[in-house]
Amino acid sequence: MSNPNKPNHWTLSARAEKMNPSVLREILKVTEKPGIISFAGGLPSPKTFPVEAFREACDKVLREDAQAALQYAASEGFGPLRELVASRLPWDVSPSQVLITTGSQQGLDLVAKVLIDEGSKVLVETPTYLGALQAFAPMEPKVVGVACDEEGVDIEDFSRKAEGARFFYVLPNFQNPTGRTMSEARRAALSAAAAKLGVPLVEDNPYGDLWFDQAPAAPLTARNPEGCIYLGSFSKVLAPGLRLGYIVAPAAIMPKILQAKQAADLHSPSFTQRMVAEVSKNNFLDEHIPTIRALYKRQCEAMQDAMKREMPAGTEWNTPTGGMFLWVRLPEGVDTVKLLPEAVERGVAFVPGAAFYADNADSRTMRLSFVTASVEQINIGIKALGEAIRAHLAARSAKPEPALET
Ligand code: PMP
Repeated sequence: MSNPNKPNHWTLSARAEKMNPSVLREILKVTEKPGIISFAGGLPSPKTFPVEAFREACDKVLREDAQAALQYAASEGFGPLRELVASRLPWDVSPSQVLITTGSQQGLDLVAKVLIDEGSKVLVETPTYLGALQAFAPMEPKVVGVACDEEGVDIEDFSRKAEGARFFYVLPNFQNPTGRTMSEARRAALSAAAAKLGVPLVEDNPYGDLWFDQAPAAPLTARNPEGCIYLGSFSKVLAPGLRLGYIVAPAAIMPKILQAKQAADLHSPSFTQRMVAEVSKNNFLDEHIPTIRALYKRQCEAMQDAMKREMPAGTEWNTPTGGMFLWVRLPEGVDTVKLLPEAVERGVAFVPGAAFYADNADSRTMRLSFVTASVEQINIGIKALGEAIRAHLAARSAKPEPALET
């Protein structure tokens, strides 16, 4: 019999203790206040969601295939969707190597479950996608950051740290958070080094289709499919609310990933998989994706122009050639975690860069998304951000440094 005087006592698993609330989600809560112009969230522009095409596809699926669309289904995913994914990838992929996932975020979770033990070394870029760090953390890896520069991964640093690594998680195209794209030379060098050192690559490519003027170089997986797991997503080219992504994995590892998928959610939704397969007929994606590219390119240019006008001297930022993000490094003396509430006071939000580092965070950095706000909002928001940074710098130089406590 239960003791009415004894409170319930929940003992958390060590794994649960390792889980952190996403800093991003916490920030997004602040930025959801009415009137805030947010460059914080990585939300695709809702203007790009092909609502009419979905309405028609939904209607067709329900008229022609309702029973299957509403039924349990195979864990691997809907056949025609797996075929579509395989046919759109720029190397020779069989549909049997494609597993449909519930967003590519689930792909990261499955990869973590299958490849990480407590204490396993996992390499990530510096900085890297926060959601990947979150997906890996419960498996208790030792996450090691590899240095990166404008061209991508520092091959020497990778080679120094590679020994014993379970995998290296890389985002070669329009990286989240930096917006950087790895050069062809660096891809070739990384691919060769990883193969030589026997380190598998986990290549995450949700933004690869969102280039502005020129498609990026071939994926790392195309160079060595047996040594790589590739993650893709429909979130940025159709809509994130579908929660559909995919994993392409070599035969050596796919059965285990499939077992992890079965345990996680049996399969991704039969209904949205059919809708995407239906909507994508007649080369729809080839017509739709260029409209997203054109919109994001305009918004990126507007943000760059506004930054040139409004940012204080000494601020540096990159020029993305696609994707959704701009990476900014502020002058000496600014800590972007401290700057954020002051910027929100002035009606604008961003993500402090520190959130994206596995270790040794650069506190002067921030990530700005140029896709969710309109051009008009970008102009107002960047002006407010410039003012917040100037005020922050002025207050800092007016204040004497506090004496060190001994
Ligand atoms: N990888 C990266 C680099 C991302 O930026 C995101 C989403 N922001 C994801 C994976 C997850 O995307 P989804 O689950 O919507 O496919």
